[in-house]
Amino acid sequence: MKIRNIGLIDCDGFKFPNLALMKLSAYHKQKGDNVSWAGLKDVDKTYISKVFTYKKFNVSSFFDLGEIVTGGTGLNNNTLADKIEHIMPDYSIYKTKKAYGFLTRGCPNKCSWCIVPKKEGGIKANADITEFWTNQKEAVLLDNNVLASDHGLNQIEKIIDLKIKIDFNQGLDCRIIAKNKSIAKLLSEVKWIRFLRMACDTKSQIPYIKKALKNLNEYGFKNYRVFVYVLVKDIEDALERVLFLKDIGCNPFAQPYRDFETNKEPDKSLKRFARWVNHKAIFKNVEWDDYK
Ligand code: SF4
Repeated sequence: MKIRNIGLIDCDGFKFPNLALMKLSAYHKQKGDNVSWAGLKDVDKTYISKVFTYKKFNVSSFFDLGEIVTGGTGLNNNTLADKIEHIMPDYSIYKTKKAYGFLTRGCPNKCSWCIVPKKEGGIKANADITEFWTNQKEAVLLDNNVLASDHGLNQIEKIIDLKIKIDFNQGLDCRIIAKNKSIAKLLSEVKWIRFLRMACDTKSQIPYIKKALKNLNEYGFKNYRVFVYVLVKDIEDALERVLFLKDIGCNPFAQPYRDFETNKEPDKSLKRFARWVNHKAIFKNVEWDDYK
């Protein structure tokens, strides 16, 4: 079979390893193709991927990009074929020492602001940790609601046994931790890379955050190790949430609301609020009324 030259383009600027591109690279290398970052020479085929929705992109090249295939939430909803989805990622293209992957896909909830249920549907098992882990000390898990899945919970037990440090970087569902002490106990046994992350997207979630923290505290897990995503759609509502989180010693991280249908830039006032929260020195020392 003819060896082909494959080009890759990461539209997110290499801030975070692009899992789809790592899998595509592995797939083509297994077939004997040459894989490189696009734009350095003529190629037969180019994969363009963009995960984040908040930045526009423009591809121009002096070289021939050949057949172009695009994918990722930031561009469209194209997903990988099953034989590529379940391949060991080629971590060498980002020179990363961490493993990356999804243990589960989807979410049983249907929050109006979230693209996950539309894109991935209900919660389902996706992979065993060993499908994308090759003895790295740390793994970043991209699951959207791992605690809603029995497979996900079994995988967390396996990860504890394997002593892998992890980060569920999309956050864990506070309602499940609040309702189930055995899950809080399980999470207290995990080695976290830095934070255990949750989300507090509306004021109605504050009681769940309180109860989830109470359960975690019972097993010795401290609030300063909890990072909380805060959706900012209404500033007054978000202010109450971030002040509550600050008060109890958690780390709030504000995310201005962006409509995933229109992908319109968030309102300037929401961005200003997020800057205030996310600049830790300012957040600690300056009140919102003075900052705004
Ligand atoms: S729980 Fe999280 S992942 Fe699930 S729909 Fe709501 S925001 Fe999306």
